[in-house]
Amino acid sequence: MQFYIMFLLVVAFVLVVVYLAKVAVLQFEERADGDVLRVKESYSRIIQQKDELAAEKKHLEDESQRIFTLYELTREITKSFDEAEAFQSFKDYLGRQIYLDDCQLVENFPDDISDFPSFKGYKFFPLKSKRVVLGELAYKGLADKDEETFSILAHQFALALRRIKLYKEVENMAITDSLTHLHTRRHFMERFEEEFARARMRKLPLSLLMMDVDHFKRVNDQYGHLTGDMVLREVGRMIGLHTREIDITGRFGGEEFCAILPDTDKQGALLAAERIRAAMHDEKIKAYDASLNVSLSVGVATFPDDAHELEELLDKADWALYRAKKQGRNRVVAFSVYSD
Ligand code: GH3
Ligand code: MG
Ligand code: MG
Repeated sequence: MQFYIMFLLVVAFVLVVVYLAKVAVLQFEERADGDVLRVKESYSRIIQQKDELAAEKKHLEDESQRIFTLYELTREITKSFDEAEAFQSFKDYLGRQIYLDDCQLVENFPDDISDFPSFKGYKFFPLKSKRVVLGELAYKGLADKDEETFSILAHQFALALRRIKLYKEVENMAITDSLTHLHTRRHFMERFEEEFARARMRKLPLSLLMMDVDHFKRVNDQYGHLTGDMVLREVGRMIGLHTREIDITGRFGGEEFCAILPDTDKQGALLAAERIRAAMHDEKIKAYDASLNVSLSVGVATFPDDAHELEELLDKADWALYRAKKQGRNRVVAFSVYSD
């Protein structure tokens, strides 16, 4: 009996041990499964992060390539301050990036495209800067996939075009008198130096006219400064109208104007000066509600007859102008050593 009880106890013990071992194994398996699941999850997270990073890397590479392309293009097209040259650089650059059959710059775009039958089959890209259309790019044969690149590069070209136009405007402001549209004194003197050096080198004559509006103070006093300004504008226009393309005209200051007549001896210069004087004398100037006449006194000096240096030629023309005023105005006087 005792043996039997012992046997049962041993069996029970063994069963308990087996049961506990089984529970332990099950728990261990469950834990292991959990660990495997967690490892799997973190593995797929890492894989996802890797894909995201690869996509980000690709995006950054594309972006840096795009910025580099823009930088290179900008560098190429900003080398020049000339529209045609900048466009050529742009076109060359475009040709290296994408394929196009043709691309042309049309600066004065007509309202009616039929004015340009040669652009049949072309597409147009407006080159805009702050809503102002600076021109159009007429292009054809561009693949759809390259449309975006073309548009980005064309925008960059529009910026360059605006910069060139602004530069030209500023340059023009410095060399052109805003009232008369003749050269400013400073620019006139620069051109004078060039022309004087050329005349000396080629041993050709050169004449200088100094012109001053007669009794201009009276015009201001009688009609006011605004009318006076309009008269000066008209005087500038008449001087421009009655000189040749190769002559250089400038507003020397106030109501005083100058003209350089290259390749012109004294006799030719006297004729030219007389033509301007007579035209001015005959011109009825309409300014606001006034209608008036003004006259010019003109002094003439010629290289090499009267002077061998630029400053001397200026002095001699000034001296001749002074004589014209003294002799009664509205006349042309040439420098002469025999004048009183
Ligand atoms: P003269 O025949 O001796 O040359 O007499 P003038 O009255 O023309 O000469 P003066 O030098 O005494 O006067 C020139 C006047 O020109 C005085 C000045 O106020 C005026 N003037 C100079 N520049 C301008 C300008 O840009 N606009 C206007 N409206 N007047 C100007
Ligand atoms: Mg005057
Ligand atoms: Mg004067």
